[in-house]
Amino acid sequence: MVEVGKEEKLEPRRVAIIGGGISGLVTAYRLRQQAGPQSEKLKITLYEASPRLGGVIETLKWQDCLIESGPDSFITNKPFLLDLAKELNLSDRIVKVQSEGAGGALVYSGGRMHSVPDGFVMLAPSKLLPFAASGILSPAGKMRALMELVIPQRKVETPSGADESLANFVRRRFGAEVLDKLAQPMVAGIYVGDAEKLSAQSVAARFLEMEQTKGSVIRALMKNREKSSGARYGLFASFDGGIGTLVEALLANLPDVELRRGCAVRRIERKGAGYLLKSEADDACYDMLVLACPAASASTMLSEVNPTLSSQLAKIQSASSVVVNFVFEKEALASLEKRFGRTFGAVIPLKERKASNLTLIAFSFASNKYPLRAPDKEIIVRAFLGGVGEEETLALADDVLLRLAEEDLNRLLAPTKPAHYRRVHRWPASMPQYNLGHEALVAEIEETVADQPGLYLTGASYRGVGIPDCVNSANLCAKKLMAELAESVYKY
Ligand SMILES: Cc1cc2nc3c(=O)[nH]c(=O)nc-3n(C[C@H](O)[C@H](O)[C@H](O)COP(=O)(O)OP(=O)(O)OC[C@H]3O[C@@H](n4cnc5c(N)ncnc54)[C@H](O)[C@@H]3O)c2cc1C
Repeated sequence: MVEVGKEEKLEPRRVAIIGGGISGLVTAYRLRQQAGPQSEKLKITLYEASPRLGGVIETLKWQDCLIESGPDSFITNKPFLLDLAKELNLSDRIVKVQSEGAGGALVYSGGRMHSVPDGFVMLAPSKLLPFAASGILSPAGKMRALMELVIPQRKVETPSGADESLANFVRRRFGAEVLDKLAQPMVAGIYVGDAEKLSAQSVAARFLEMEQTKGSVIRALMKNREKSSGARYGLFASFDGGIGTLVEALLANLPDVELRRGCAVRRIERKGAGYLLKSEADDACYDMLVLACPAASASTMLSEVNPTLSSQLAKIQSASSVVVNFVFEKEALASLEKRFGRTFGAVIPLKERKASNLTLIAFSFASNKYPLRAPDKEIIVRAFLGGVGEEETLALADDVLLRLAEEDLNRLLAPTKPAHYRRVHRWPASMPQYNLGHEALVAEIEETVADQPGLYLTGASYRGVGIPDCVNSANLCAKKLMAELAESVYKY
């Protein structure tokens, strides 16, 4: 009880954030920002299992090359990351994907590379002529795809009955050939997931909306194209120092946040009105917790605190992937450039991989995408392996992964000289799989969390895997936590 007229000496509220990826770092930044610097009311401790902060975001320097181990781009049609960049004085360090003399992507089909038809957007064409002229699909496959213009939309009775697998949606609207030869590899390139399991509602919501509101995805895309200028690649950007620039800027803006690197949290227990956190290093008590780690990891930690929540979280699994970065002399890949120009990369459909005994899911030419990533005479190639159903890839030794990636690149790109830089980056269980029913599951999780005082979840596992989505998720999480604090005796 606080006596009227007497100042109460309040103990600071202690908040622990578990996970030092972009979601955890932005949560810490927002909490610190909203509580005020050197706030005596809030003590923030961030636990990160790895010795490095940033999670899957990591930019490395090798000689004069900028090498991205994980993500290399962010989408700019969502404001969250752009707003954050502005606050961190990074706006003038944003670099857009190059459009002068570079662009387009390739797809491996029928044993050779083809350009993805100009205007093709993940699942569907927005330009009819390049699609009709492309050699990727058979005439019957193209006809079937263009029938999408007249196929009636699916009747959706209830919102919960609306979900279907991405593969089903694409087959239903555009036919099996579009799925196998274009949509599947493009989606696998982003989500390293299985199109037969991924939820169309979660990963392709805007296409479902186009079907429902315009009656045809192709018609809606064609209309949008008239309104927007430039290719979809033009929506992507990075920073002049790579995506890691964002992590550095956040770290420079976390005064008084205790950063516990290399300190994995093992278990959480309830302790009075707060939580006891058992980490590799010690045990410590907190009033509030933010779990900014993958859902599976949160599930393990929470098994005693809230078994219902723990089992709900366990349903969101993540896929593992491997990125292998190479630096080649540009001259060594000149023949590809002669045929296709300075493209941004290629995807390889699952069926083609099986038929041709290839391991790579995709590869990209990082230094064609952004300026000043490599000296003029060099080119950075990023090769992607692993994904859903190929978890064993992660267990392979580095030299085996390098050999597999190199053998595939030799077949696909026919370099005249081997790469002079190679490095393997492993991302175990790092890409959440938004499978069928994901939206409904996240809604259930949010309901359960709302009944668990002082506990918050944020991160890529829930409402968007892209970096801007993670920033948004962290913003909302910090806002909720501060609102709960404001309702308590501590007025902010
Ligand atoms: C290879 C790859 C390429 C990608 N490319 C792009 C791209 O180009 N553009 C884009 O927008 N998105 C991309 N993404 C997705 C995006 O980068 C991620 O979804 C996002 O960065 C995830 O951030 P996060 O903080 O939620 O999770 P993470 O970055 O996974 O961070 C979670 C952190 O929690 C820590 N942790 C886990 N358990 C514990 C524990 N028990 N105790 C303490 N710490 C723990 C982990 O060590 C990790 O550092 C890519 C993802 C991958 C894997």
